This record gives sequence, structure tokens and C-alpha cells, in this order.
Amino acid sequence: MRKPLMAGNWKMNKTAGEAVSMLKALKPEVADVNDVEILLCPVFTALYAANEEIKGSNINLGAQNLFWQPKGAFTGEISPSMVKDVGCSYVIIGHSERRQYFGETDETVNKKVIAAFAAGLIPVACVGETLKEREENVTFEVIEKQIRGGLAGLNAEQASSLVIAYEPVWAIGTGKTATPAQAQEVHAFIRKLYSEIYKDAADKVRILYGGSVNPQNVSELMKQDDIDGGLVGGASLEADSFAKLVKYAK
Ligand code: PEP
Repeated sequence: MRKPLMAGNWKMNKTAGEAVSMLKALKPEVADVNDVEILLCPVFTALYAANEEIKGSNINLGAQNLFWQPKGAFTGEISPSMVKDVGCSYVIIGHSERRQYFGETDETVNKKVIAAFAAGLIPVACVGETLKEREENVTFEVIEKQIRGGLAGLNAEQASSLVIAYEPVWAIGTGKTATPAQAQEVHAFIRKLYSEIYKDAADKVRILYGGSVNPQNVSELMKQDDIDGGLVGGASLEADSFAKLVKYAK
């Protein structure tokens, strides 16, 4: 059985103080949840304070990016072991905003995924098609290229513990959600493709849906066979709405 994972991507929002306030409010609201894994991914500068705040709670911490080199002359970058050292267990890799604005490619995603695992982090690797690609009917080709390129070279254990986030770019931050059926179709495609590459790991890998998930649409999405959780931007920023997402089945 795959344990559902509800992950919040705060993007470039919240100072350290604001992150701590949100976490203080969230902790009691989700304290009784043990059937869903909870993950929040603040900005780098809030990770230390956030980690202090979540100690002893059921909330996990993740970063939104890393660089694959271990250390050295790479001004402005953060290494996998630094991300691990500040208390993260997960890291988002290859978010569409990073692909769009910061030139990330399947090749850099792959380097980051491998480096994250080597540092003891679990990557949440993002894939997804643009609106143009969906309209041109090349969604499956695009996703296949991202998966084969970005997720190559994993061993069996890594392939099972990896988290994949399917985020149609046209649904991110737009208020436009993929229908549960549209999302399920791509999730099933991803799992089948993954089984061709990594065999048994396909039953274990968690595939999150991302793109305007909110407390109103979460439960229908979570009912789909191959949707194992959400990667949520806007609706993860406030404790109330994120708690509702975590408790989608209640
Ligand atoms: C995201 O940040 O990955 C995301 C899906 O954002 P939103 O939920 O705001 O669409």
C-alpha cells in the first residue's frame, strides 16, 4: 500500500517568521493524522526556523531545489548535504517554474535526482506538459521524455522511494484543475511507463498530482487509483486550507 503524501510548495513566499507562524497554527490541526504523510517546502532562508518548529511533530520538511555539486565555487547555490543538514528529508526537483524560468532540463533534473539520493534525500521530481503540448496531443510523448531522461539511472530502492509529481503546466496557479479523469489517465500512463523501466518499483512509487488542488477538489482527485497525493502551491500557504487538504478523507 502506498501511503498518501500531501506536499505544500510555498514557492517564493513567507519569511522565516511567517513560516513559523503558519507551522504553529498547522501543528495542532494535523496532530492526529497518521494515515497521510505531510510535507512542507519553504524557501531556503526559512528552513532552519521551520525545522526547529516542526521537531517532534508529524510534519516533514523539504527544500524546493538544490545543486548537484557537493561544495565549491558555485555562488548562490546550495548542496544536497546542506539541504539534508538543515533538516530536510525531501526536495522538489524540476518544478515547471524552474524549467521555465531557470533553464532546467531533463539532464539537470537527472543530476539533481541522483545527487539528492546520494545525500539521503527523497526527490519529488516534477513532470508535466504545457497547454500547447496538450493541445497538440503530445502529452504522453512529453511525459515519457521527462521520465526517461530525468529519472534515469536509479537503483531499485531509489526507484521505489522516489516521488513523482505530475503537474500539467496549464493547471499550475491558474485555478484550472485537470479533471480527476484527465489526471488519472496521465498517472496511469506514468505508472505503466515506470514499470517498463523499473519493474516492481512502479507499484511502490508515489505519484502526486499538482495544479490548483484545493479543499474543494482534493477528495475527488484522491479517489483516483493512481493518484497518491498532491503537490500544492496556493492552497498550502494557509494552515486552515492545508489542514483540510491533509484531512481530505475526513
Ligand atoms: C505547485 O506549486 O506545484 C502548484 C501546483 O501550484 P498551485 O497549487 O498553486 O497550482
